[in-house]
Amino acid sequence: MFGKIKWGIHPDTHKTATERKAIEIPELPKKVILPVRQHIGAPCTPIVKKGDTVKKGQLIASAGGAVSSNVHATISGTVVEISDQPHPSLGKCLAIIIENDGLDQWAEGVPTKREWENLNHDELIDIIKDAGIVGLGGATFPVHIKLTPPKDSVIDTLIINAAECEPYLTADHRIMLEYTERVVTGVAILKKILAVNHVIIGIENNKLDAVKTLGDAFNDPQVDVVAVPTKYPHGSEKMLIKTLLNREVPSGKLPLSVGVVVQNVGTAVAVCDAVRNGIPLIERIVTVSGSAIKEPKNLLLRIGTLFSDAIAHCGGFKFAPDKIIMGGPFMGMAQYSIDVPVIKGTNGILALSKNEVNSGPQSPCIRCGRCVEGCPMGLNPSMLSILSEKGFFDEALDTYHLLDCMECGCCSYVCPAKRKIVHFIRYAKKMSALKGAKK
Ligand code: SF4
Ligand code: SF4
Repeated sequence: MFGKIKWGIHPDTHKTATERKAIEIPELPKKVILPVRQHIGAPCTPIVKKGDTVKKGQLIASAGGAVSSNVHATISGTVVEISDQPHPSLGKCLAIIIENDGLDQWAEGVPTKREWENLNHDELIDIIKDAGIVGLGGATFPVHIKLTPPKDSVIDTLIINAAECEPYLTADHRIMLEYTERVVTGVAILKKILAVNHVIIGIENNKLDAVKTLGDAFNDPQVDVVAVPTKYPHGSEKMLIKTLLNREVPSGKLPLSVGVVVQNVGTAVAVCDAVRNGIPLIERIVTVSGSAIKEPKNLLLRIGTLFSDAIAHCGGFKFAPDKIIMGGPFMGMAQYSIDVPVIKGTNGILALSKNEVNSGPQSPCIRCGRCVEGCPMGLNPSMLSILSEKGFFDEALDTYHLLDCMECGCCSYVCPAKRKIVHFIRYAKKMSALKGAKK
């Protein structure tokens, strides 16, 4: 159906440890740490103070700008501290710490049942905005903004990204199997907001049970559930759009430039919970896996739960891991401590052994061309890494399209010389941004 896909790689998926394990709900943590920045955009402003009593679902930090996203209490208890705390992607960030009172009481007016079919576009957008929903696939862009494209753009298709192409991660897979009805309702709400008459749910064909479950669940001829080939990085928006619609998102442009909005399948569930049930984003599914974890699991965690608590619920470590990652092994963030909180974008916590990490000393490029072959963006990763190493950032930017790199890691994965290509590319991007800022 799709022909041969030339880009990308076929890494070992490592999903068998958790793909058949039902979502577990651990006991509530003694405390949660809620950073004021868990999204792309401006940090939120705390609206509570030390000593305040808060309840689950209560707004505790309000969006700090046009691109920002509210933060809510995820347990009931007392605010014991507001200070800089370790953050899994920012290093440090101002955070609100809540000590659990063990009561798990809802804030007033939460949850609230709504007849969402009777709400208009603006009312639906306001609910999603107030609920603090961000893209749950890891991108963490505020969803209400993505659902409000500029007036002159024509959107004809909503794609639900359920590819989940990163190794180890099975959170979205379990969501489709276990939260099927909420996925269906969330998609219907998103479809109404965007006023599109075509929705495609793209799922990699290593999850055929999810393809069948969702295929049976949707009773809407305008919704297609489609199995796409299992190939990394099919979960990237641009790759999924190319496979499903044969449309190319131009360099530097967003999917809306080709008439598409993409939302993650977990985000659809969060939209359902907010709109139909009046529950803001306070929890998410996280896959805890990797060979250093005693019992890998899929967990429903309150946002703000420490990685250490999640790992303890999985029996702790079998041995000292070589690397801890938030997210998948390719695009995730390495962690130097497990005393960091689960944030809205945490889809996985991985504890990996040396064998699972593509490490080792790098040697000079042997010009084998494998990285060029594998790059889904059609770039020359070898040249980009060499230019970055030598400090030729302008050339990397202007001639070799540095900013088109989505940091998927295919190039580093296939490189026989073990060159740290993505590391060099990230460095070049940082240096170019710094130079730009100084001009
Ligand atoms: S250059 Fe960038 S986009 Fe291309 S394979 Fe490497 S990380 Fe992926
Ligand atoms: S894969 Fe590695 S060795 Fe081969 S061309 Fe690319 S950077 Fe050079």
